Amino acid sequence: MTIRTRFAPSPTGYLHIGGARTALFSWLFARKHGGTFVLRIEDTDTERSSVESVNAILEGMAWLGLDYDEGPFYQTDRFERYHAVIAQLIAAGQAYRCYCSKERLETVRAKQMAKKLKPRYDGCCRNGVKHEDSQPYVIRFRNPVEGAVIIEDLVKGRVTISNAELDDLIIARTDGTPTYNLTVVVDDLDMNITHVIRGDDHLNNTPRQINILKALGAKLPKYGHVPMILGEDGKRLSKRHGAVSVIQYREDGFLPEALLNYLVRLGWSHGDQEIFSIDEMIQHFDVSGVNHSASTFDPDKLLWLNQHYLKEAEAAHIAHHLSIHMGALGIDPGTEPELVRVVEVQRDRAKTLVEMAEISIYFYKDFTEYDEKAAKKNLRPVIEKPLQALRDGLAALDHWQPETINKLIDNIAEMHEIKMGKIAQPLRVAVTGGGVSPSIDVTVELIGKARTLARLDTALDYIRKRAENG
Ligand code: GLU
Repeated sequence: MTIRTRFAPSPTGYLHIGGARTALFSWLFARKHGGTFVLRIEDTDTERSSVESVNAILEGMAWLGLDYDEGPFYQTDRFERYHAVIAQLIAAGQAYRCYCSKERLETVRAKQMAKKLKPRYDGCCRNGVKHEDSQPYVIRFRNPVEGAVIIEDLVKGRVTISNAELDDLIIARTDGTPTYNLTVVVDDLDMNITHVIRGDDHLNNTPRQINILKALGAKLPKYGHVPMILGEDGKRLSKRHGAVSVIQYREDGFLPEALLNYLVRLGWSHGDQEIFSIDEMIQHFDVSGVNHSASTFDPDKLLWLNQHYLKEAEAAHIAHHLSIHMGALGIDPGTEPELVRVVEVQRDRAKTLVEMAEISIYFYKDFTEYDEKAAKKNLRPVIEKPLQALRDGLAALDHWQPETINKLIDNIAEMHEIKMGKIAQPLRVAVTGGGVSPSIDVTVELIGKARTLARLDTALDYIRKRAENG
């Protein structure tokens, strides 16, 4: 049997963290078993669905690298098929027209509530009632009244729901449009889905869907309901807890593998392993290892993982993702120095790509102001002569390499009988505008000769002015 899983988002917003985790689990399961991962867009709620949301979902999945083998299929393209299945169910006596008015249903409901009963359809039209042909009607599924639905849930274990607890579900509205439970069933059937992995907010729907599938004579898929994600306050994860949109994490400077690694560990574990490459996730992931209870979102851990990947991932890969953040700062990442070199020197100094971009601006763009404290401390008249000598030495340097730059700094320090740091730090402030940068020789090398000399000239002017002003 070929394993077939699907991700079936409703395009009513961005791809959020919970959806991305569900998609990841379904994707991993398919990849692990050499199966097929299907993307289905559940867009039948035309009022709430939007093209922007579809695009946001596709963009989020593409960024995470969750590639699908089939789809995206759109439910709005499949109405004919849904209508045919509804007609088939009616013809077989497994669905019927219900003419009950809203008012009548409300009265029934109020009576049930008054008796502290669970509100449910009372089956009034189940056995046929007199009606005017012009009266509006919905279609209800004739749910079995006896027995129980047993779900051997891959995550939750056995879940048993008595049919007596289920009423006759509406499968088509008065305007004839099919409802969620019907469309999901028809799609899972037509798309030969073998494993439905989804959020446990759908567990209530599963017995109803199973009954419809049985009525259609279908082979049942296996189900795995993944518990939800909570914020640190124990409430369902929402915007209140910070970013919940996958694309927001990209904007905030996270690497996709950090988010994937974070998500895979959110409610699933493999021993005490924390770091998983994509291949390791595929190798070890198992739905039955997913926690039964909700997991708590921990932004610090995500940041820690991001930092880990910034340190460990291929520099070229990081550079690829860093380039959008450089672009956001008005820097063309295609210019000198090569972005990959910048990554190599900055990767230990930033927790996010946004931070990495911000601390790397001076490699590409002149700064307009010095860090006040750093300039005050380091760009003092006493350093003018050694710094001028260094400037001239750098101007005469043939090979612009960290080694030659380093040697020159060393020589100048010796000539002026000062410690290397006494000149290296003023040089740093002169060329970067602040007191923090990677090793000075590499910093100078990457800034390049022309920029370094121009910035040293500016610093020397600054020092002279300072001397004049006492
Ligand atoms: N479209 C549903 C949702 O976004 C998911 C349906 C399913 O996975 O069965 O919540």
